[in-house]
Amino acid sequence: PRPAPVNMRTCVAEAIHLVQLSDSSREIDCLNEVPDNLIARGHAQRLLQVFVNLINNALQASRPGDRIIIRGDYILGSVALQVEDEGSGIPESMLDRIFEPFFTTKPAGEGTGLGLSVVYSIIQDHGGTVYADTPPGGGTCFHIRLPALEEEL
Ligand code: ADP
Ligand code: MG
Repeated sequence: PRPAPVNMRTCVAEAIHLVQLSDSSREIDCLNEVPDNLIARGHAQRLLQVFVNLINNALQASRPGDRIIIRGDYILGSVALQVEDEGSGIPESMLDRIFEPFFTTKPAGEGTGLGLSVVYSIIQDHGGTVYADTPPGGGTCFHIRLPALEEEL
């Protein structure tokens, strides 16, 4: 399908819904702070997959009482999104390997190590960027840039 407008608040809301269906018992708040006017140019199903994978990882790294916050904004004409958690964090030495296919720190049977490589491919295909860092208070933050919807001239 051709790229189309994707409402990112709706996309994130669907992702939270899907992830919570499979992980409903845990006491971790997932806050959607993406504004309703934030429109990217892309493929809704594939961007949904990005947020499902990122929120799943964030949930698996979190403990009861932790929060996950997804934020978004327009920055310099593109769509900027952050998925931030208060979980176990990623050691600095590992940050450049997490997007490799089959890289995982989870026990056999619990992680395939493919989630972030899929995220990376989808964002690349959209002409965007993604990286992770450690917020000042700990945990992990994934930063995504996507092309904003451009009005047809
Ligand atoms: P998997 O979840 O199957 O291990 P991923 O590609 O989704 O594979 O993630 C790769 C690795 O990156 C994880 O095993 C984990 O070590 C690390 N990771 C990813 N997201 C987070 C996060 N939010 N907090 C802590 N570690 C993370
Ligand atoms: Mg994963």
